[in-house]
Amino acid sequence: MITESSQVTIEEPPARRERPEAPIAHIDLDSFCLHCSYNLRTQPVHRDERTGIPVVRCPECGRFQAANDGATVLRPWLNRVTAAALVVWMLSLLSCIFFLGMGQGALTYATLEELTTHGGGTVQRINNTTIRTWSSFGPLEVNADFEYYDLFIGAMLSFSALAAFTTGLFMVVAFPHWRKRAYWALAVAITIIASGIVTVAWKQNAPQLFDWGLTYVLSHTGVQLIGAAAGVMLGRPLARRTVRIIFPPSVRPRLAYLWSADHKPFPRSTR
Ligand SMILES: [Zn+2]
Repeated sequence: MITESSQVTIEEPPARRERPEAPIAHIDLDSFCLHCSYNLRTQPVHRDERTGIPVVRCPECGRFQAANDGATVLRPWLNRVTAAALVVWMLSLLSCIFFLGMGQGALTYATLEELTTHGGGTVQRINNTTIRTWSSFGPLEVNADFEYYDLFIGAMLSFSALAAFTTGLFMVVAFPHWRKRAYWALAVAITIIASGIVTVAWKQNAPQLFDWGLTYVLSHTGVQLIGAAAGVMLGRPLARRTVRIIFPPSVRPRLAYLWSADHKPFPRSTR
């Protein structure tokens, strides 16, 4: 019997162990801290000593939460929908790479098209105005009196480098788990394939100007390779900087993978 004078001592719960035993698993999907939204992906899962529940500790805010996301009736359906959405998402990301590659080729081809004109046109002089008509059936000829040639070439090569830079940046940001050499291989492959398609198309359309055109194709290929390399190397640093400038601190933890993919510490959100 407990009398008023008896003292009930509540034992202090054991202090959190700073060095828990070996993890039983790791979080291998995007999973967000309930408190601060930090992405817990790759974090170790430990079994709670007393309850046996697998728990994960958020490295950002230090709080614990259950490592599984709960089994409910809806769970299997949610899993199916998630899997389908993931496939659609991955396909759309991959098609973005495809279209960026198409853009690279289109810039090369546009350069060749702009610098040439179909022969067989006529030049008329009515009063003091020169009127040119072009036939769209004559063989392609180099447009000798192309205005702003240097400016045009400079602009097209810049766009070309920028397009390839975007391709490289997109790959390292959209597919952070790929290996470095996968980025390099794909960036080079996309550029070579795009230039290859342009070369074949040009040979078909203007065999008489093939050698002339090849110079431009090679120039574009060169700047695109440089642009893509810059995109692969600077893409994630640039993305991190952009996130820190544009996104509010509350959203940033969701993009923590941009840091963890390069084994960099995630910046404190108060900064
Ligand atoms: Zn947290």
